[in-house]
Amino acid sequence: MAKKIFLCAISNISSGSCNEDCAFCAQSSKYKADIERYRKKNIDLIVKEAKEAKRNKAVGFCLVTSGKELDESRLEFVCEAALAIKKEVSGLNLIACNGLADKESLKELKKCKIDSYNHNLETSKNFYKKICSTHEWEDRFQTCLNAKEAGLKLCSGGIFGMGEDERDREEFFEALKELDPDSIPLNFFHPNPSLPLPLRVMPVDEALEVIKKAREIFKNKRLMVAGGREITFKERQKEIFKAGADAIVIGNYLTTKGAKANSDLKMLKELGLEIAESCDGK
Ligand code: SF4
Repeated sequence: MAKKIFLCAISNISSGSCNEDCAFCAQSSKYKADIERYRKKNIDLIVKEAKEAKRNKAVGFCLVTSGKELDESRLEFVCEAALAIKKEVSGLNLIACNGLADKESLKELKKCKIDSYNHNLETSKNFYKKICSTHEWEDRFQTCLNAKEAGLKLCSGGIFGMGEDERDREEFFEALKELDPDSIPLNFFHPNPSLPLPLRVMPVDEALEVIKKAREIFKNKRLMVAGGREITFKERQKEIFKAGADAIVIGNYLTTKGAKANSDLKMLKELGLEIAESCDGK
C-alpha cells in the first residue's frame, strides 16, 4: 500500500518583536531582520487561513506566536483563535506553538480544543548554549514534558545546519527519544544576512542523511520536513520521502515563503504518494 503523507499548515498569529536571542530566528528583535511584525493577527483571517489549509488537504494547522513563553495574553489569544477555528472548520488537528509553558496553561489550551503542542528542542543541550543565551535548553525539555502531562500530543524536533556537529545531532536525537514525541519536525536552517549564523545552506546529501538517520531511530514516528525544505532540497525535494519523511509543511513558513500548495500536491501525485485524510492516518 502506498505510504500516506501528512500535510500541516502554519499560521504565524503573532509575529516578530521577540526579546529572546535565538540565533536562527528572524523574529528576534536583536537581529533587525526585514520581516512583517504584528501583535495579533485578525481572528477572521486566521479562520480563513485554516479553511484554506483544509482545502489544500492539510490535516494539521499550527497556531504560532513569537516570544519566549505562553503568557496570559497569548493563552487567551490562542484559545480565542482555536475556538473560532473549531467552530467553522472540522477535522483539523490544531497545534499550538507558543514557547515555554507550564502545565496549567497547557491544560487550558487543551480545554480550548488544542490537540497538540509544538515545542522544538532545536538541537543538543550543549550546542543550544551557542545558539541562545536568554533561556535554557532544560526549560524547553521541561515544556515538552509539561505538554504530555497536560494531555496534549507532543510535536517536537529541531533545526539542522546551524553549525552543530555529528555528536550534537546524536545527543539531540537521544534527548528526543526520551521525550517520545508523536511527531518530529525537521527544520533546515534558512540563512538570513541579519542573523549571526554563517550564510550556509546545508548540502542536499547531508540533509537527506539527517532524515535517514532520524527515520532509522524513530521507526514509527511522523517525520515532518518543515522550514528550509525548498531552499535546502531545491529540485531534489522528491528524495525526502524515500529518505524517510512522511509529512511536510504546506504553504508558507513563519517568516519565509514556501512552495505553492498546488505544486506540492502535484509533486505528491507524481510520486504516487497518498495524502492522509486525518491526523490518525486514515
Ligand atoms: S523565542 Fe521563538 S520567536 Fe523568540 S527568538 Fe527564539 S525562536 Fe524566535
